[in-house]
Amino acid sequence: MLGGKLGDTAIIVVSRVGTGTLGPVAGRRLRWKDWGMAIREIRIIGDPVLRTACEPITSLDKAVRDLVDDLIQTVDREGRAGLAANQIGVSLQAFSYNIEDEVGCILNPKIVELSEEHQDGDEGCLSVPGLWFPTRRAEFARVVGIDVNGDDVMVEGTGLMARCLQHEVDHLDGKLYLDRLDRLARKKAMQAVRELPMASAPR
Ligand SMILES: [Zn+2]
Repeated sequence: MLGGKLGDTAIIVVSRVGTGTLGPVAGRRLRWKDWGMAIREIRIIGDPVLRTACEPITSLDKAVRDLVDDLIQTVDREGRAGLAANQIGVSLQAFSYNIEDEVGCILNPKIVELSEEHQDGDEGCLSVPGLWFPTRRAEFARVVGIDVNGDDVMVEGTGLMARCLQHEVDHLDGKLYLDRLDRLARKKAMQAVRELPMASAPR
């Protein structure tokens, strides 16, 4: 995901379930240069990995820790709001977010609450570069999952954070925001996607 409508404000809460304290995943920027992590290439629409539901993470091994590092480093760039593991070619349930200086990653995320109140606004996606379409989402979303240490975490928010959470969980289910557009917008989107230089076979 790239971001939401300019001017969106988000109320964001990131916590360890049960303690209510801020977890280490939230609110700080790590020094990537010291860690030898990588900014990974983003997979573009047409790549089947984006249409494949991701597998739950069952072991917090080095590969998963490296994945988390790469997700965080790759999302922590100007104009990037969220990144799902399959967008960097890894079919595991994890995504990172970068909303209003909250940068973090959640594993095995599940949406446990969505508000009935909705928000309208343009949505974009790093895997559908340069395009934005109006996409209706719930105004508030709450996601639970685990962090890289296996501790339970909860991320919730309104506005752009809520939009990000819904967008990224969709990715992990093999969905793109384009699937949620109304019929007319979807038609326009499919046309525009066909004209993307890197996307040969939009699905
Ligand atoms: Zn996206």
